[in-house]
Amino acid sequence: MTAAYEYETHVYDVVVVGAGGAGLRATLGMAEQGLRTACVTKVFPTRSHTVAAQGGIAASLSNMGPDHWQWHMYDTVKGSDWLGDTDAMEYLARSAPAAVYELEHYGVPFSRTEEGKIYQRPFGGHTTEFGEGPPVQRTCAAADRTGHAILHTLYGQSVKNNAEFYIEYFAIDLIMSEDGQCQGVVCWKLDDGTMHVFNAKMVVLATGGYGRAYFSATSAHTCTGDGGGMVARAGLPLQDMEFVQFHPTAMACGIDPAPLATEALRGEGAVLVNRDGNRFMLDAHPDAELAPRDIVARAVYAQTQAGLAPALDTRTALGAKILTDFPAVAAACQQAGLDPVTQVIPVAAAAHYHMGGVATDADGASTLPGLWACGEVASTGLHGANRLASNGLLEALVYLSLIHI
Ligand code: FAD
Repeated sequence: MTAAYEYETHVYDVVVVGAGGAGLRATLGMAEQGLRTACVTKVFPTRSHTVAAQGGIAASLSNMGPDHWQWHMYDTVKGSDWLGDTDAMEYLARSAPAAVYELEHYGVPFSRTEEGKIYQRPFGGHTTEFGEGPPVQRTCAAADRTGHAILHTLYGQSVKNNAEFYIEYFAIDLIMSEDGQCQGVVCWKLDDGTMHVFNAKMVVLATGGYGRAYFSATSAHTCTGDGGGMVARAGLPLQDMEFVQFHPTAMACGIDPAPLATEALRGEGAVLVNRDGNRFMLDAHPDAELAPRDIVARAVYAQTQAGLAPALDTRTALGAKILTDFPAVAAACQQAGLDPVTQVIPVAAAAHYHMGGVATDADGASTLPGLWACGEVASTGLHGANRLASNGLLEALVYLSLIHI
C-alpha cells in the first residue's frame, strides 16, 4: 500500500509525547536506563504548562513538624470526596518523600528553612492524625516557582542522559496495529509542515489537561486535551471526564489564562473577603480559607454570582513580603495594575485541573498494549472527584518515574 503523503520514520525504544513535569520525568527515567528515548513536544519543554505551578509538591518529609505518609494518604482519600482509588493513593503518598529527595539531588533549588532543610508550606486539606490533628506544612516549595524549577532541572538531566528531543512536533494520532497494539505516534513538524512517524515499543502520553475547553481557565493555551483525543480516536474510552477541579482564587482581572493567586497565599494567612469586607469562608467551613478546594471554589462562585466581588486580602498576612516571597503573583498583580501591598486581589473560580483522562494502573499502563500515560492526561483514580492541593505535580512525577518502594 502506498502512503497518502511522504513522511520520515524514526525508531526508538520509547517515545514520550509531552515535555511537562510528567513527560520529562518519564523521559529521564527511560533514558537513565539506557533506553533510546525520544520526547516529542509541541512547545519548548520549559514552556510547558507545568511552568505555571507555583505552590509546590506534597510529601510527608516532617521538616516543619510531625508528619506521616499515612496522614498524607488519608488527606488524599478525604480530598477525593471518598471516590479515589486507594492503591494509587497509597503508592503516591509512600513514594512522595523519595520523589522529592530525588528532585533535590537532581538539582531542584528548593526554598530552605533556617536549618537548611527543604521548606514546606501549609496548603488546604493537609492535616495530621488522620484529620484529627492540626494542619501540617507538607508542600515542598521553590518560592512560588516550583514548577519552573522542576522543568528546568528535569530538562537538563534528560539532555545529560542522552534523551532526544523533537521540539515543536505536534502529535496527531497513535499508530495502531491491526491486533490493537499501540506502536508509535504520527507527528506534524510545525516549522516546515513535514510529517514524521515515531515507532517505539513503548508510547507514553504526557500531554497534560484540557482546561482550554472552558471559557475561564488557569491552564496554558497548550492545554487542549490532545492526548485524550488521540486515545478516543484509537477506540479507548476515557475515565471520569466529569471530574473537573475549579480553582477558587484565579485572579479576576481580565487576563487569559487567569493568573493564579496561589493557595499558598491562604496557607500563609491571606483571607477571602467580599466587597462588604465580610470574611465569608468563616461561615462556610470550620477550616475557613483552608477548607478543601471544591468547598472554597463553591463559596467564591456563590459570592461572584451574588455580585459581591470576592477578593483575596494578603495585606495583613504578608504585607510587602508578597513581593519577595510570591514574585509570580506580584508580577501578575503588576500586569493587572494592582498593588497587592495596599489593595485586595479580585478573584473568581476557574477551571484548573482534570482528574479524569486515560485510565491507567499504578505503573502508568493503559489498557491498550504498548501505551502508557502519566500526569494530567492520565486517570489513575488517585484524585477521585477532587484533587488534593499539591498532589498534581507529585502525580506527574511518581507513576512513571520507576521509583518502586
Ligand atoms: P503539562 O505541563 O501541561 O505538559 C504537557 C506537555 O505535552 C507539554 O510539553 C506540551 O507541549 C505537550 N503536548 C500537548 N499536546 C501535544 C501534542 N499534540 N503534541 C506534542 N506535544 C503535546 N499542581 C501542584 O501539585 N502544585 C502546584 O503548585 C500547582 N500549581 C498549579 C498552578 C496552575 C496555574 C495550574 C493551572 C496548575 C497547577 N498545578 C499544581 C497542577 C499541575 O501544574 C499540573 O497538573 C501539572 O503540571 C501537569 O503536568 P503535565 O506534565 O501532565 O502537563
